[in-house]
Amino acid sequence: MFSEFRSRLTLAFGGTIGLILILLSVTSFWFIQNTARHKVEQELNAAATVQDRLWELEETDLLDKARTLALDFGFRSAVATEDIPTIGSALSNLKNRLGVTLAFAVLPDGRSIRVDASDTESLTQMPDSIMTALDADDDPAGILMFQDQRFLVVSAPVKAPRLVGWVAFAEPLDSQSLRDLERFSPIPLIASIESIDASLKSGRDDIVSANEIDGFGGFPPAQLVLRYSMSQAMAPYRGMFVALGVSALIGLIVLVICCWLVARGVTEPIRKLDEAVRKFGDTSEIDVEINSNDEIGRLAKSFTSMAGKIAEREAHIKQLSLTDIETDLPNRRALEEAIERETQVGKIAVVAIGIDRFARIRDVIGQRAANQLMSMVGERLRLETGVLAHGRLASDTIGLVTQYESDESLIERVKLFSIEDTPFKVGSEQVDVHVSAGFALETDHANMKVTDLAVVALNQARESGALIQRFDAKRYGEPSGTLAMMSALMNGLHDGSVSLVYQPKYDFRAQRICSVEALLRWTHPELGFVRPDEFIENAEETGHIKPLTRWVVEKAIMDRLDMLKKGHDLKIAINLSGRLVGDDVFVAWLIETLSPYPGCFCLEVTETAVIDDHGAAISNIQKLRDSGVEISIDDYGSGLSSLAYLKQIPAHELKIDKAFVLAMTEGSSDALLVKSTIDLAHTLGLRVVAEGVETDDVLKLLNLMGADIAQGYHISRPISLKDIPHFLDEFAARNDAAAPEPAQRAQKSPA
Ligand code: C2E
Ligand code: CA
Ligand code: CA
Repeated sequence: MFSEFRSRLTLAFGGTIGLILILLSVTSFWFIQNTARHKVEQELNAAATVQDRLWELEETDLLDKARTLALDFGFRSAVATEDIPTIGSALSNLKNRLGVTLAFAVLPDGRSIRVDASDTESLTQMPDSIMTALDADDDPAGILMFQDQRFLVVSAPVKAPRLVGWVAFAEPLDSQSLRDLERFSPIPLIASIESIDASLKSGRDDIVSANEIDGFGGFPPAQLVLRYSMSQAMAPYRGMFVALGVSALIGLIVLVICCWLVARGVTEPIRKLDEAVRKFGDTSEIDVEINSNDEIGRLAKSFTSMAGKIAEREAHIKQLSLTDIETDLPNRRALEEAIERETQVGKIAVVAIGIDRFARIRDVIGQRAANQLMSMVGERLRLETGVLAHGRLASDTIGLVTQYESDESLIERVKLFSIEDTPFKVGSEQVDVHVSAGFALETDHANMKVTDLAVVALNQARESGALIQRFDAKRYGEPSGTLAMMSALMNGLHDGSVSLVYQPKYDFRAQRICSVEALLRWTHPELGFVRPDEFIENAEETGHIKPLTRWVVEKAIMDRLDMLKKGHDLKIAINLSGRLVGDDVFVAWLIETLSPYPGCFCLEVTETAVIDDHGAAISNIQKLRDSGVEISIDDYGSGLSSLAYLKQIPAHELKIDKAFVLAMTEGSSDALLVKSTIDLAHTLGLRVVAEGVETDDVLKLLNLMGADIAQGYHISRPISLKDIPHFLDEFAARNDAAAPEPAQRAQKSPA
């Protein structure tokens, strides 16, 4: 309950001030009560003193009268003669004259004549105790308990001249005099006379004052007790106390409310801010309504602006994560999100539209313009086809998500796309674009993404020369067959059906064969010759590429020694699958195995291997290079990377893909491309190998362009180890006859 700041603030303030209020009330109550008590005690004492004084006067008065009677001559002689009737009448007379209630004459033998209020005379025997009292003192006076009644008694001896008796007057201390006392007192007290032994004390509820009254003769004294009830004394203040209590209570309530309001005023912005921060954490929504100008207001403002920036950045990141940076088209992720969305709604197909020979277009018009072209193609497809979603699937491929009814209607629709009819205008250039397309349904493969299936279908279409094709699962390969093929391949490593052939590489400057590329050959026991592209792809996918490459490396080392023995020192180039470049353990094995032969082996690595697994690949290539193994970038130009990547690969050699070299003399732009590649590679310090040299024209052209090395059927097809010596002799002879002019070379290669 008090976890809230404002509750605690209220409790602290309200509690403290409330406590002070209660303390104040208690003190004032105590003070008032004490004052009242003191005042009452004063009053009581005053009343008692007055009463005392009254009784003293009465006593003196009575005593005077008694003495006067005792001195009366007639009376004295009557007492002396014990003339009881005369004594009686004298007493009676006197009593009435003097206004005394009871009058006695006591003879020394204890007989006493008494006249009471109704003038009745009687003769009684005085008790011994009274006789002793009369005898004891001179003129004793005081209080006396007699027949359950208290009397104020005075006496005087009667002498004639010797003691002949006593005269005594008694006034009953009846309630009348006490009532008078009560009545005339300024405060409402209760008066009583009590024996002295009654313990009297002022209690909580009343105030008591006691004044001693002397006893008659040796009789015990008594006391005048005045009581005053405290509740009565406090009665006049009761209203005040109630008022005090009520105002304290009201004050306390008002105080708590005020504290609560103030605390809320102070803490409300903090609470709002707290809530806003929490809400922002949960939903990224900013909702702060604090407009004050104090620290909290400023804090709220900076929070709002900070949160705004975070939200903006987040939205931007989200946008970026779904956008292809180069073309601003939605990317693969965006496309896959759309697919997930649309499959909920209806049956869909994914179409992959690939721009044919995009790498070439890019090299001609440049990377930026190529990106621009991609985004234009994407945009045109989106506008013209009314598809559900579009996005970039690969660097040369646009993916479309579209409704699916049947293969035929989909193919019809794709064929209507006007990509090929109207050229694209990129900058100042017109670019004709040719496309191929593949498509797939989600149900076409159990555990592959439909986007990947569409790309495979696109490749299948290109392979079979179709404009558009649906994903063909059969052609894609059936896994159990692949595994059987792999186990046959592994057997082949031991039974001799797998072998290495070597394709010579001609060095323009040295004008001789200085190296060979090791290439695998496999003759399957039943299927016969299997193309290396085919079984190597399968070996890569199933992991068999490792033992296969290990075998190649070990065989190449042995073959090199063999050739050395025959007097031919040839460098051997070995193809290293992209998958193995990032494999630290395998690379360590390569270094251990090849480092004893520095400069004798060259590893051909495709550039895509490096792009796919950038960090690990680059550092492994560097390690290989450091251990004395040469590195060649294979198939340059067939991939999609740009020269920018090359700078980062610590290679020695660049092999231009045979696709460009084969077409060089056909008058196309490929020659220019090869030339510029050679120049660029040289500026990067790389030697250039052109592979796929099938004609003499190409060989001569490459020599002119400054290529360093040529490889191809024109020089030699891949040959077996035992054929190498014979080939080398024959080639040397042929070459001497028709050597190209070294002076004609366009550019010098790096050392
Ligand atoms: P590659 O590394 O680009 O090898 C060159 C390919 O071009 C070889 O095909 C070769 O026979 C062929 N070739 C050479 N000169 C010419 C020419 O003038 N015209 C034409 N049209 N073709 C020429 P091959 O032997 O069929 O090998 C195909 C691919 O298989 C190789 O391409 C390489 O990627 C892979 N491969 C072969 N052996 C190995 C190996 O031991 N390990 C790995 N990882 N891959 C290998
Ligand atoms: Ca190669
Ligand atoms: Ca190659």
